[in-house]
Amino acid sequence: MIYDLHTHSTVSDGAYSPAELVRQAATAGVTHLALTDHDCTDGLAEAQACARACGIRFIPAVEISTTWLEKSVHVVGLNIDPACRELREGLARLQAIRLTRAEEIGRRLAKRGIQGAFEAARERAGMGMITRTHFAHFLAEQGLAASVRDVFDHYLVRGKPGYVPTQWAGLEEAVSWIKMAGGVAVLAHPQRYKFTGSWLGRLLLDFKSAGGEAVEVIAGTASPGEIQSTAAAARRYQLMASVGSDFHNPDNSWLKLGRLPELPPGLTPVWSLWDD
Ligand code: AMP
Ligand code: MN
Ligand code: MN
Ligand code: MN
Repeated sequence: MIYDLHTHSTVSDGAYSPAELVRQAATAGVTHLALTDHDCTDGLAEAQACARACGIRFIPAVEISTTWLEKSVHVVGLNIDPACRELREGLARLQAIRLTRAEEIGRRLAKRGIQGAFEAARERAGMGMITRTHFAHFLAEQGLAASVRDVFDHYLVRGKPGYVPTQWAGLEEAVSWIKMAGGVAVLAHPQRYKFTGSWLGRLLLDFKSAGGEAVEVIAGTASPGEIQSTAAAARRYQLMASVGSDFHNPDNSWLKLGRLPELPPGLTPVWSLWDD
């Protein structure tokens, strides 16, 4: 079995359409795939149909943007029913926030002499969510930094000209939408937040008391040391473990669909909740 429970498509900031993503995952040997676009479930039906045709198991999912103590934290909802009203209404609110924020990013960049960023990002996003990734690709193409990574560092993170402080969903709120939709809430890529051990402990406690049940122990680019410390935290706080590449595009040759290390011992995989 090869599980990859965190991936993106063109419905948010991924490069492949939902169907293409499923085909690529199947080719890579993934047996269980979750599509987790940012704040949007529009790709799930297409991916589900393609997974059926490719003979792999598909887990309908979403990655919800939350704000916890003024910090951005992502929560993945696995095995959700996208038709759930509370979930749909919650995501609709976040989608409106994304649009307003993107317009403001465009205005702030324009003040720095960078014209047309909002329009360019919107065009790149197409029918999908507008994300900072779309701005980053436009800014990189304008030659404003050497790489997409550098664009983030110089323009799009806290303290930089194109950064817009945003109030996403509350942590408890996001977990409650996921649970009402019949899903399981997973704290995404805890290593990425660069929290100290005590802050991460606080987050895991809050997440657990909100009803969160699992944490991504294996997340995309996490190092062996980060995996071990997250595994220890999962055992300590009695959270199940999830694994996901956070795949966005094939440009990073070192990050491939389904190519993930094994879970460390002494953990309960989140998929033990499901039948097969
Ligand atoms: P948003 O949800 O619109 O704030 O966009 C966040 C997305 O930007 C994340 O999901 C990543 O895909 C991407 N991202 C964030 N930070 C970086 C970074 N330093 N380098 C490259 N991509 C990044
Ligand atoms: Mn992303
Ligand atoms: Mn994320
Ligand atoms: Mn992600």
